[in-house]
Amino acid sequence: MSVLAMKFGGTSVGSSEAIGQLCQIVTAQQQEWSNIVVVVSAMSKVTDMLLSGAHAAARGDRASAKATAEALRSRHQSALHALAGQSDDAHTVNAQIMALIDEFELLTQSVSVLGEASPRAIDAISSLGERMSVRLVAAALRATGIAAEAIDASDVVLTTAEFGNGAPIYPQTREQIRSRILPLFSQGVIPVVTGFIGATASGAVTTLGRGGSDYSGAIFGEALDADMVDIYTDVDGVMTTDPRLVQSAQVLDRLSYAEMSELAYFGAKVLHPKTIRPVIERGIPIRIRNTFNPSHTGTLVTRQSESTPRAIRAVTVIRNMNLITVEGRGMIGVQGVAARTFGAVAQAGANVLMISQASSEQSICFVIPNDHARQVVDALESALKHEIERGDIDQIKSRDEVVIVTAVGVGIHERPGVAAGVFSALAQAGINILVIAQGSSECSISMVVAANDGDNAVRALHALALG
Ligand code: ASP
Ligand code: MG
Repeated sequence: MSVLAMKFGGTSVGSSEAIGQLCQIVTAQQQEWSNIVVVVSAMSKVTDMLLSGAHAAARGDRASAKATAEALRSRHQSALHALAGQSDDAHTVNAQIMALIDEFELLTQSVSVLGEASPRAIDAISSLGERMSVRLVAAALRATGIAAEAIDASDVVLTTAEFGNGAPIYPQTREQIRSRILPLFSQGVIPVVTGFIGATASGAVTTLGRGGSDYSGAIFGEALDADMVDIYTDVDGVMTTDPRLVQSAQVLDRLSYAEMSELAYFGAKVLHPKTIRPVIERGIPIRIRNTFNPSHTGTLVTRQSESTPRAIRAVTVIRNMNLITVEGRGMIGVQGVAARTFGAVAQAGANVLMISQASSEQSICFVIPNDHARQVVDALESALKHEIERGDIDQIKSRDEVVIVTAVGVGIHERPGVAAGVFSALAQAGINILVIAQGSSECSISMVVAANDGDNAVRALHALALG
């Protein structure tokens, strides 16, 4: 028994044409695989629309939630009509989707009465996009003659109660997925499952974080012992860098899990960074493929990378970062400074992307998104108040207008001279490196540079990747 998990992103279900394409791809894959599970995102932009409707409602603006509801009705209705016509099935599904949009209106009304949208309300609202799209896609598959059933992942994916960032709980999630999906497999029915969502033990709907449908695809793939997880998107695969920055950027045929994780973490938008986690242990391969160019083989991600003479495979950049430095001679040997520093950062809700500490212990520096900088500096000043007063810490510096440039490749730390090559390429391009850090997975090297050096740094390093 072979199992294929296929995840289709927002643009891949963004219009009736795209969903038609999805149906063709699923039909073609049925020739090769005995069982298929399909996981889908909301139609493109729908999650953004739902969220901005919710935030508008919290500000007391009910009119824009109403307008959002109208736009959602016509978008889903016209896609359903184009795909499933006026069949009885289309009528039933239309009623289900309209009921979900009514739910959106009710939820936004409560939000506007309360004057605030709690994380729990936000998840209830933002989950609606996927709950609509699965019904639409399942109906489209049935209209092409494929037995398919829409499934809400909130029935089977058990998560922590961290709204907006729910973490799946095992082994319950695996067991629940299997008991719901395996019977469908034996009946020859394709389950069409909502990406992005789960539910707490008490049944409150949670989401796994923006872009989390990829992660859902891998969660379902793992639970069903899939032989392959296909992530269908709107590009041919993972590229050596952003083709808008470097024209010679190419699609990578193969990557290792470690390389893919680093790339996703350091800004390659093609895959959610958590997607690799569920599949690593069983070694399930992931393929990243293009819905709109299905004959392209895409990028295959497995344990082993491609054997290539190039140490550097790809280069990414993350913009709008802020470099925070905590420094002072009195930091030497003072216990717990690092712990309190990062405790304060966590309290400010900021995500730390990179850390580096000088061996003299006179400074710690780290990089966070620029829009959290003010809060982080305030939190640090209060957490380290005594050290600052005593003069053990001289200052907390914040530097904006910086970016993180990362080179990724398994060969980076295996082969001598690669790091030296990276630094000299940047030096030759006249770029000053502010901070360097080596990825813990040993297959990346990241550098902080001034924002206006970012593009040139990417070009200089990319030349090494293709070199
Ligand atoms: N629809 C969700 C989002 O836009 C999840 C996803 O598309 O992966 O974030
Ligand atoms: Mg996505």
